[in-house]
Amino acid sequence: MSIARTINVELGDRSYPIIIGSGLLGGSFDLTEYVVGPDCLVVTNEIVAPLYLDKLKANLTGKTVESISLPDGEVHKTTDTMHKILDKLVEVGANRDSTVIALGGGVVGDIAGFAAACYMRGVNLIQVPTTLLAQVDSSVGGKTGVNHAKGKNLVGAFYQPSIVLIDINALTTLPDREFNAGLAEVIKYGAIVDAEFFSWLEDNIEALMARDPNVLVHAIGRSCELKAQVVAEDERELGRRAILNFGHTFGHAIEHCMGYGEWLHGEAVAAGMVMAAKLSVIDSGDVDRLIALIEKSGLPVTPPRIDADKLLDAMGKDKKVADKQLRFVLLKSLGEAFVSSGYDKNVLDQLLGASA
Ligand code: NAD
Ligand code: MG
Repeated sequence: MSIARTINVELGDRSYPIIIGSGLLGGSFDLTEYVVGPDCLVVTNEIVAPLYLDKLKANLTGKTVESISLPDGEVHKTTDTMHKILDKLVEVGANRDSTVIALGGGVVGDIAGFAAACYMRGVNLIQVPTTLLAQVDSSVGGKTGVNHAKGKNLVGAFYQPSIVLIDINALTTLPDREFNAGLAEVIKYGAIVDAEFFSWLEDNIEALMARDPNVLVHAIGRSCELKAQVVAEDERELGRRAILNFGHTFGHAIEHCMGYGEWLHGEAVAAGMVMAAKLSVIDSGDVDRLIALIEKSGLPVTPPRIDADKLLDAMGKDKKVADKQLRFVLLKSLGEAFVSSGYDKNVLDQLLGASA
């Protein structure tokens, strides 16, 4: 298998392809036609560089390739780190037709994307995501940014790449815990917009956990396709794009209360999706199916023990809260989500109390 799927993100003159396949890094896919000028800067990190930087260089034959390797971890998703990228761009004499290539997980993708959006008011950006979460979520849709001491992703820009290149072989080196965390977002897409995909996941979860290449390509491809559709309808999250935050209001609050890094984002979202499903007025059989699939993915279905008031307080801080009224992404059924502040407050109290 080389190229297995191509998905187009339809955003008018900012449309771009997502290319998915196995063994695309290492030279078999010619990335040079997406590098507009003669030179590019690969932004990666200390974990990913030794694994995949040379392979990526083989896709860029004939171009001048500079690289910068960032320290690993969410704590480095800061303006300081972004400045290091800007300094490097200046140092190597990058100009308006230079290209920034993000090679790594969501942290690298978000920082490098934001640097590309800012340098000379925007240079060409290519995303080469290497975690499951980055392949199904962060590399697609154009959200870029860094954290601020007062909050996650507080500083950033909408900035679309010109191509997303997904090599599923990169997942062979990804630790299980990171892989499972990415599955939470895959399950999310089924739960919010595609009941058939949800059923397919139920049938194929063992093969997916075993990282079967064909199953991976379908799971990643369908996830990208669904995200691309939602983004195409509402690029700047003025409305419908908010459904992508299913499980995230609870999830962000869990992450905030536990201290970032204690629970991975996907783990917090997994428990958060169960809470959001329980807050929804849906068939209890649907809630059970969601719980079963999340459990089979090696993810938590209940939140950690956190004081109810602390959780509620943290949810109030969620930047997606409109007019201080708590809003949740709820399910009508598996495969259909909507945003609402019309939830049952007693059920919310029970859910929060149950975690204390
Ligand atoms: P990450 O980038 O920290 O990667 C997780 C770990 O895996 C890191 O230690 C990384 O170095 C390592 N790694 C990466 N690729 C690897 C590989 N192929 N083999 C072995 N190790 C590898 O975390 P993530 O989960 O990819 O991304 C999380 C970030 O993404 C958060 O900052 C979050 O805010 C952001 N995010 C952004 C969007 C968006 O729309 N822009 C959406 C979701 C999440
Ligand atoms: Mg998420």
